[in-house]
Amino acid sequence: MHTLPPREEMVRAMLSGDGTYDGVFLTAVKTTGIFCLPSCRPPRRPKPENVEFFGTVRESLFAGYRPCKLCRPLELDGQSPVWVEQLMTRVEQAPQERIQASDLKALGLSPERVRRWFQEHYGMTFSEWCRGRRLSEAFTRIREGADLDDVALGHGYASHSGFREAFGQAFGTPPGSARATECVTTRMIDSPVGRMLAATTEKGICLLEYTDRRMLERNLATMRQRFAMPVVPGEHKWLKMLGEELKDYFEGRRQDFTVPVAPRGTPFQERVWNELRQIPHGETISYQELAKRIDQPSAVRAVANANGQNRINILIPCHRVIGKNGELTGYGGGLWRKRVLLDLEQRAE
Ligand SMILES: [Zn+2]
Repeated sequence: MHTLPPREEMVRAMLSGDGTYDGVFLTAVKTTGIFCLPSCRPPRRPKPENVEFFGTVRESLFAGYRPCKLCRPLELDGQSPVWVEQLMTRVEQAPQERIQASDLKALGLSPERVRRWFQEHYGMTFSEWCRGRRLSEAFTRIREGADLDDVALGHGYASHSGFREAFGQAFGTPPGSARATECVTTRMIDSPVGRMLAATTEKGICLLEYTDRRMLERNLATMRQRFAMPVVPGEHKWLKMLGEELKDYFEGRRQDFTVPVAPRGTPFQERVWNELRQIPHGETISYQELAKRIDQPSAVRAVANANGQNRINILIPCHRVIGKNGELTGYGGGLWRKRVLLDLEQRAE
């Protein structure tokens, strides 16, 4: 599936360099023969009349355009490049190993390119990412009951105090109290409606939001505050399951999600969100109807607000609530995304 937003919307996104559209469309400039991500900020913005829009890198290349050297659209084509996968596997397999710039060069990678990729996709440098992975691995092992000293030494820390310090900085809690603490694991997921930031706890997915890579760093800080829990980048069984189910959903092969969700809100918000999950795929209801279903027929505004506060897009289908007259009304991710999701769901019926 690849549905482009309306042209006026793509022009507006391109002119403002809006990164939430990265992965959604590409801008190709007829006068230069170059194609870019929507977030690219070239020294001179192209005139809209000189721009063609494409849904995929493939189409842009076949139309004769070259990828931009500033924004590197080839590196944002849904999948992580092979070299990133290989690097990540190496870190997962030997979390105690410190990968240096010289190791990267030996693998044929420029440290600058590696740094930039991790900065763009995780909001941190590669070495910060490695440290995050090491610490979250340590965190998990301590929670499972492993001995502190074993964990410190097994994760490449020469001394217990070095480990304690790094751990405390990352999680705001000493290793000894980690047994009683939960942590939030995050990663980016690419989708046909743009890049999404996903987060999970042991209980289930707690965040799925459209994001802009330039806002990543801020997102991580906000999440730490919002969840009042350590936040680490990495892999998690629920994130893996979410990625697979989302892929099936966008390909029209899945109507219901089975990955657990763990929303966090007020009791009222949680009631509204729970009710949203009862709206079947392919159907829409009005805010009035939603208010009725939670036995608060006069609380339409509060219901609409709670709907807007949903942070777990798609899984909690707030996009299935529309205005009384059938108009789409607002959506945090932008109206075109709401339209794409509803079209996709109606087509699959
Ligand atoms: Zn560019």
